Amino acid sequence: MKYSAVTLAREALRGHRHWPEAWAKARPKAAYDAVIVGGGGHGLATAYYLAKTHGLSRVAVLEKGWIGGGNTGRNTTVIRSNYFYPESVALYDLALRLYEGLSRELNYNVMLSQRGMLIAAHTPAQMEICNRIANAMQLNGVDGRLMDAEEAAARVPLANQAADARYRLMGGIWQGRAGVARHDAVAWGYARAASRMGVDIIEGCDVQDIVVEAGRVTGVETNLGPIRTNRLGLAAAGATPGLAAKVGVRLPIHTYALQAFVSEPVKPILDTVLLYLGTGTYLSQSDKGELVIGGGLDRVPTHGQKGNLPAQEQVLSGVLEMFPSFGQLKLLRQWGGVVDVVPDSSPILGPAGPEGVFLNCGWGTGGFKAIPAGGTLLAHMLATGDHHAISRPFDLDRFRTGRLIDEAAGSGIAH
Ligand SMILES: Cc1cc2nc3c(=O)[nH]c(=O)nc-3n(C[C@H](O)[C@H](O)[C@H](O)COP(=O)(O)OP(=O)(O)OC[C@H]3O[C@@H](n4cnc5c(N)ncnc54)[C@H](O)[C@@H]3O)c2cc1C
Repeated sequence: MKYSAVTLAREALRGHRHWPEAWAKARPKAAYDAVIVGGGGHGLATAYYLAKTHGLSRVAVLEKGWIGGGNTGRNTTVIRSNYFYPESVALYDLALRLYEGLSRELNYNVMLSQRGMLIAAHTPAQMEICNRIANAMQLNGVDGRLMDAEEAAARVPLANQAADARYRLMGGIWQGRAGVARHDAVAWGYARAASRMGVDIIEGCDVQDIVVEAGRVTGVETNLGPIRTNRLGLAAAGATPGLAAKVGVRLPIHTYALQAFVSEPVKPILDTVLLYLGTGTYLSQSDKGELVIGGGLDRVPTHGQKGNLPAQEQVLSGVLEMFPSFGQLKLLRQWGGVVDVVPDSSPILGPAGPEGVFLNCGWGTGGFKAIPAGGTLLAHMLATGDHHAISRPFDLDRFRTGRLIDEAAGSGIAH
């Protein structure tokens, strides 16, 4: 069913009892033209673009839990393309441009809200970093500019600008096209659109092994039985190194827990996404009125989807230094995800060992914003057997050649 004002009105009159399921609950078939492991945003988007752009619909997405139950449904929903290196900007701005038309394309409201993002500085050294990144953004053709203290403070009127404030705003970088989107809706929208084009989305399907014969992938073993394919995409975030190890490939990825926090809803008080370079804490206000808060990693590698108190204290004390008045807010909930962090803070896209196996992983703390691009690029590789020009610099071989894309050093992201 196509969602529209007419169907909404009709179903409202019928008591909302006749909506069809958004995506079919598929059971595995014996063989597919392509199989994608991981029903997060990247895996689902890959399936959608395989069907839509490349006409391949004998495709399955295998998800061991439920779709969007990984990091895609656990993130703080920030979308931006304010990176430093041209390779990264090409990747993340492709994603942003695709996000800009996504609700219409998927016929599903992903609630994209381009409210702008301020990366705030509070020392002269941080202003220098901002200056450098703003220049790089302009050279790379992305909307971005430097803000002075007055303009920055006007964007966040509740920030502590007292003379003795520890993190008094000195200015920052502004990207007007940045913003947020509803993360569940991105997963559900891609799932629904892919399913409508014939893709099988199979939840509760745990990929336990990868079968390789004569140097080429021939299938996977799952808890629901074997599935044959000679094109396999691995988009399983923090679980990808374990899967790649099954075909003899060692990935330079560590997994860490990253936490998010949500306050009780309040009336509109923050109409931008705000990141403080000094604390690494960032926040935005959801459409419902809650403050959505994120920060740094728990620095102990783990596969446990939960946080710990020291990291909570660090993030929340950062918020309170910047906004003392938020100390009155109640926290409603907190959760953790397991993110796949690469030494140069850039994703890994490209072939992995046996012919027919391709990687989409290593997004770390920032892969939600990249979902439409990650899906486009993995779909291209699975369909053509070769890199897209935008994915080539992110190949695994950069760790052999040394041509790293070090966004931690470039754009100053903390991890
Ligand atoms: C707290 C937090 C805040 C974040 N904030 C942001 C943000 O503001 N902006 C941003 O851009 N990014 C953010 N991120 C990062 C972002 O969420 C991830 O980079 C992104 O969602 C990765 O998507 P994915 O599809 O690769 O992985 P996931 O969504 O994690 O999907 C991978 C899926 O693979 C499945 N899987 C694993 N192993 C197997 C197996 N053997 N068989 C079958 N299925 C398997 C998992 O169950 C999972 O559903 C944040 C992450 C967290 C945790």
